Amino acid sequence: MKVAIVGAGVAGAYLSGLLAEKGCSNLLFDYLAPYEKPCGGGIASKTIREFPFLDSQEIAKREVHSVEFVSPRGRAYTFSLPSPFYVFSRKELSRFLIDRAMRLGASFIPEKVVRVERRKRGWEVISDHGSYSADLLVGADGVKSIVRRQLWRNFDPRDLSLTVVSYIKGDFEGRVKVCFLSGVEGYIWWFPRPGNASVGIGSPLGQIESHQLETLLRKFTSEYYPSRGKRGVSFKWALVPSLRAEELSRQRFSGERWALVGDAAGLVDPLTREGIYYALKSAQLLAEAILKGELGEYDRMLEEEFLGELRKAARLRRRFYSPWFLEMGLRLAAASGSFREIAFQLLLEKPAYTRLKKRLLWKGVPGAAQFIWYYSTRPLRRKSSLQ
Ligand SMILES: Cc1cc2nc3c(=O)[nH]c(=O)nc-3n(C[C@H](O)[C@H](O)[C@H](O)COP(=O)(O)OP(=O)(O)OC[C@H]3O[C@@H](n4cnc5c(N)ncnc54)[C@H](O)[C@@H]3O)c2cc1C
Repeated sequence: MKVAIVGAGVAGAYLSGLLAEKGCSNLLFDYLAPYEKPCGGGIASKTIREFPFLDSQEIAKREVHSVEFVSPRGRAYTFSLPSPFYVFSRKELSRFLIDRAMRLGASFIPEKVVRVERRKRGWEVISDHGSYSADLLVGADGVKSIVRRQLWRNFDPRDLSLTVVSYIKGDFEGRVKVCFLSGVEGYIWWFPRPGNASVGIGSPLGQIESHQLETLLRKFTSEYYPSRGKRGVSFKWALVPSLRAEELSRQRFSGERWALVGDAAGLVDPLTREGIYYALKSAQLLAEAILKGELGEYDRMLEEEFLGELRKAARLRRRFYSPWFLEMGLRLAAASGSFREIAFQLLLEKPAYTRLKKRLLWKGVPGAAQFIWYYSTRPLRRKSSLQ
């Protein structure tokens, strides 16, 4: 069987290697990769434990042991991380995965796929340079996926977040900074990487004007890193899927001889917008289903593995980013060791959201559980300091 994989980001290139390793012939298309995809590049230890190849010395990364959170009211809290957080260069990671796939026998085709056509027993993949046949088609072509558009449907704007990102040259202290703001269902991040730092902000598409996001990011860089701010910072814009809970239930991830992985499938945590873990995990599950000859099992495997978790995150998002919740949460984390432990599990471990209430009760923080229960039953009031 021959598989055509459109897109050689983390999901596509990892899938290609997994299939090639088991002798499954595949064509891996990408017209840009390896490149520095706009991304924070942040990966928690849990992801490295589950995908140990990420620990390879061949991929440059920065190991971080502490985090500074800034609350919507501007209060700063610094915490030591219970396990390291890693920041990767996306170009390095992509190069590593593509080289690995090619070494294992995959064919990398540096072309842009412009169209796919269904044939009697498979697919014709048409690129800007040629035409290729395959039995099975995988869309790993990110948030603007043409495979998704042709075989399922485009993302609804309500299922997307807009991000603004920049890379600032220099060797910065090894601390991650996360800054929450009133009226933004997202955060500003500052992730130090080898030779530079990635700084960015994300918010649901349409919630805040794009120029306002850029202004907030400029303000952040000139306030916290004045010397960098003055030199002028150039920004890149990018979309990231962040599906509503009901869309995650409606969505199909595979069909007759096709499947979607990673961003093309919308598999990103809608609360934190972490997607690298889900790109790798969906690729791993799809490889398993293809190699067993049970493509139809892929949707069920995703459901069992993490779709419930993503739906919880989607439902929690608005409440999580309310200034009141964040002020209280950070205060509790600073005051209570067991609450802090749970908060870091929420951000760094998987599953994070589905066992949250249970963990709060078990850890003997009934006050915090009560606080969450009380808050989750209160009616919501929308308030923005940016309006
Ligand atoms: C600003 C920003 C910050 C983020 N920060 C983090 C973070 O810190 N941690 C985290 O876990 N996640 C983060 N994410 C999410 C993460 O970047 C994505 O979830 C992840 O990259 C998804 O991987 P993927 O392989 O599915 O898609 P992508 O990495 O987008 O790869 C898709 C590939 O498909 C190729 N392609 C597209 N169309 C075609 C075509 N027609 N023909 C051929 N090739 C094509 C592209 O060139 C690209 O290489 C962030 C996202 C953004 C936008």
